[in-house]
Amino acid sequence: MERTFDAVIIGGGPAGAACGITLLKQNAEPCIIDKAVFPRHKTCAGLVTAKTYALIRELLDKEPPEELFCNRSSEVRLYHRTQLLTDAPLDRPVRLVSRSHFDNALINAYRAAGGTLREGEGDITIDYDQKRVTLSNGDILYYRSLVFADGALSLSRRFTGIKNTDLAFGIEAYIPHRLMPIDSVNLYFGYLDSGYVWAFPHGDTVCVGAADRFQKGEGYREILSAFLKERGIEPEETRYIGAFLPYGKAANQQGLPQDVLLIGDAAGLTDPISGEGLYMAMASGIHAAKAATQPQPKEAYLNSIAPLLRTVRDGVKAQRTFYAPLFHRVFLNRVKGNRRVVTFFFENMVHEYRYGYHDLQRLYRDYKQSK
Ligand SMILES: Cc1cc2nc3c(=O)[nH]c(=O)nc-3n(C[C@H](O)[C@H](O)[C@H](O)COP(=O)(O)OP(=O)(O)OC[C@H]3O[C@@H](n4cnc5c(N)ncnc54)[C@H](O)[C@@H]3O)c2cc1C
Repeated sequence: MERTFDAVIIGGGPAGAACGITLLKQNAEPCIIDKAVFPRHKTCAGLVTAKTYALIRELLDKEPPEELFCNRSSEVRLYHRTQLLTDAPLDRPVRLVSRSHFDNALINAYRAAGGTLREGEGDITIDYDQKRVTLSNGDILYYRSLVFADGALSLSRRFTGIKNTDLAFGIEAYIPHRLMPIDSVNLYFGYLDSGYVWAFPHGDTVCVGAADRFQKGEGYREILSAFLKERGIEPEETRYIGAFLPYGKAANQQGLPQDVLLIGDAAGLTDPISGEGLYMAMASGIHAAKAATQPQPKEAYLNSIAPLLRTVRDGVKAQRTFYAPLFHRVFLNRVKGNRRVVTFFFENMVHEYRYGYHDLQRLYRDYKQSK
């Protein structure tokens, strides 16, 4: 079989699905290729902020159904190891998703809108000169644009040179809720040098995880085991799953061919402080779809994602300051018992990007004036 598509998208996670759905809305013909068969597992804590929720609504053209989410929470708790620093109410709730369910729902929305999906295709070859992708059974797909949406370990790394040490590594375990009966979004500092441990309610389980800048030989599993043991949970009976995520290095796309675009984790687009990636994955997917049908797709795309790239660039500087030992101690002291500062920061910098990471002094000034 030989067929030409407006865009061939490699990877059908949130970035690829958002790109595919948006292309279909423009009456373009996309094809998503994924090595997995949906529903498939994706290691992710599944936190959905207000800005991410708004993108889901934009993609689905309706209020997302509540069954898409496994939990809602209106409280964030910050800990230093076992010491509770603050339990801050949120103005708006965060939602949580199980990624296998969420990603399956998005890819089904894409299919229902008439999108072509080729699943279980882990062995493709790409001819960039001929603008052609060959699938494992010999089918040939020609493309006008090629979009890499294949996650942190993207095939596109041969162009961008991103290495594992440019990434973070996260490990997760799912604990029965009765063993850790929490309904808030909990973040624990003091276990990792430049990352944190989390515990988020996920239906009848709790997703417990740890993520930090990747270092070969770092005992991620041991750190999470010790965390669980401290809370009386038997770590030996727990199944741990790890995955890479971008952590402050966006891929340099300038040198790529005009018709090749990188989105989501493949482009290195996650928030360097929180590790939140769903928002940028879907936002970049939507931008790429709008750019793909223009005469100079790469130029148009890179212009439209400039604010996301700036967030990554400034965020990595803020991340270095945030985890510098002296500043980190000041931060932990500042939030101790101070619900308002946490609520204000969450509403303005996590739920939304109302301030850039270059602009945190203005954020703090506005917080003080808001008292
Ligand atoms: C431990 C951890 C916790 C996280 N928690 C959160 C969170 O709470 N909230 C949040 O917003 N973000 C979180 N993130 C980040 C978030 O998971 C990612 O940013 C997001 O999944 C990126 O979406 P994507 O579509 O770019 O990539 P992915 O979701 O990774 O999807 C990539 C797709 O490409 C496919 N693929 C891969 N290689 C190939 C190939 N060679 N050929 C064809 N297909 C391929 C895969 O099967 C997959 O379906 C977390 C990440 C980690 C690792």
